[in-house]
Amino acid sequence: MKKEKKIIIIGGGFKGLIAALKLSNKGHNVNIIEASKNIGGYLNSPLWNKITIDLGCHLFINEDDNSTGFILSMLKNDYMKVDVNYASFFNNKKTDNIAIPDFSSIPNATKRKIQKDLLNINRKKIEEKSLMDYYINRYGDDILPSIDSCILKSHLIKSNSLDIISKNLLPFNRIKIFPEKQSVSLKLNKGLDEIIAVKYKNLKEIKNDTKKSEFNFREYYPKKNGLKFLLNKIIERLKKSNVNLVLDNRIKSFLSENNKKYIITDKSKYEYDYLYWSAPQYLIPKTFNFEIEVEKFVHSVPYVLIYFLAPKKFVSKYTYVHNYNLSSKCFRVSIQSNYASNGVPKDLALICCEIPTCKSKRIWKNPKFYVDEIWNELLIMDLVSCKKYNNYMFFSIPSAYKLPLCGYSDILNEAIEKTKKYNLIGGKSWEYSKNDIMKKIDEDLNFLL
Ligand SMILES: Cc1cc2nc3c(=O)[nH]c(=O)nc-3n(C[C@H](O)[C@H](O)[C@H](O)COP(=O)(O)OP(=O)(O)OC[C@H]3O[C@@H](n4cnc5c(N)ncnc54)[C@H](O)[C@@H]3O)c2cc1C
Repeated sequence: MKKEKKIIIIGGGFKGLIAALKLSNKGHNVNIIEASKNIGGYLNSPLWNKITIDLGCHLFINEDDNSTGFILSMLKNDYMKVDVNYASFFNNKKTDNIAIPDFSSIPNATKRKIQKDLLNINRKKIEEKSLMDYYINRYGDDILPSIDSCILKSHLIKSNSLDIISKNLLPFNRIKIFPEKQSVSLKLNKGLDEIIAVKYKNLKEIKNDTKKSEFNFREYYPKKNGLKFLLNKIIERLKKSNVNLVLDNRIKSFLSENNKKYIITDKSKYEYDYLYWSAPQYLIPKTFNFEIEVEKFVHSVPYVLIYFLAPKKFVSKYTYVHNYNLSSKCFRVSIQSNYASNGVPKDLALICCEIPTCKSKRIWKNPKFYVDEIWNELLIMDLVSCKKYNNYMFFSIPSAYKLPLCGYSDILNEAIEKTKKYNLIGGKSWEYSKNDIMKKIDEDLNFLL
């Protein structure tokens, strides 16, 4: 039996809360220090009249039984299996059943060159200094303009400016380019299963299917009140386990005194054995007062989210679509009422449109002037079929998505090196999805769990 430790978790979003639960389940003494007045980060789904809305589309994917089992132990029976129905747009062409772009509309001559490159195992590799270099080594350079136009649409940047660790934060580790039958046969070549996307299962997944999941669904979601419902369940558990939630506290400094370590906030002082980092990674240098300017190596993308209520009978059955066409403003559209009622009146549908933008643009300053244009995009995408919506509202999120720029890893590693004396765990990685976050928590805290 390991000895109980005093652990301070910095950041009380999904990552910090799950880590706190796991640690307190093992008998450790846990404090969560959260900078804002509310615990939960993105789990704090706001209310619009009586409707709970998520900021963007937040589904849970059953990727591994451990993580799914852990979330369901809190939701109990209050979850729904979601039969996801998605599509993506690229080059004005819609492809059903994939969320990544379908590049099959690029010229045949380019496709042939890409195929030749993929099959050439002796292809010369370049030194990987940016995400662009990583993609060139992975796919050859002919697909790069297409991938870049997609990153430009969703994140307003191109791969040559991005740090290589962005590869874990963007969905281009497989590409969909060839017809389904050709893709399946190409995947039989060494290394290509991991590179070529198909609409259904990859060979590795088909092989693993003999080891069936304990859960017979792929996506799931809380039955009521969205992510907020899960948040409330987690908070109940944390309170029962005597986890201390310290809200609205800013970290001032760290202190070592008589062989004990302390964190000093603007309101109090807390002793600890280990710190667990679960706030955004790039805030590490600032929090520890290191003179390392990492924030200028972070690319932030503001998003405007416009929500519509419209008669259900005129709204399509998609769960979400990704629109990689540069000519439109919407990137992702999720029809949240197709997977959760969350207080939406029975005859209405709730649609969320995610629009990447910059702060100098008019849509950022005055989203209401663009509501009709965005509705028109929904009509063009064939997601709605009535001329007018019933109601709308919008949020402006100053940095909804962030990506590390070239040079970020080097400078961040310098900061991580300096945190060793503070017993900091968990600052070494930057994850995006809830599944990756949960796997990382287990990996980071293994010696305490
Ligand atoms: C629009 C959108 C859609 C998404 N959709 C999905 C999806 O469908 N599926 C999926 O798996 N993931 C999705 N994600 C990713 C999502 O961000 C993660 O799933 C998860 O919610 C992130 O949790 P987190 O705890 O890492 O971050 P957050 O929820 O951002 O929490 C971080 C917390 O740290 C606090 N904090 C910051 N600085 C400090 C400090 N100095 N001291 C103390 N506290 C601090 C913040 O206030 C916040 O509460 C989406 C993200 C966005 C933006």
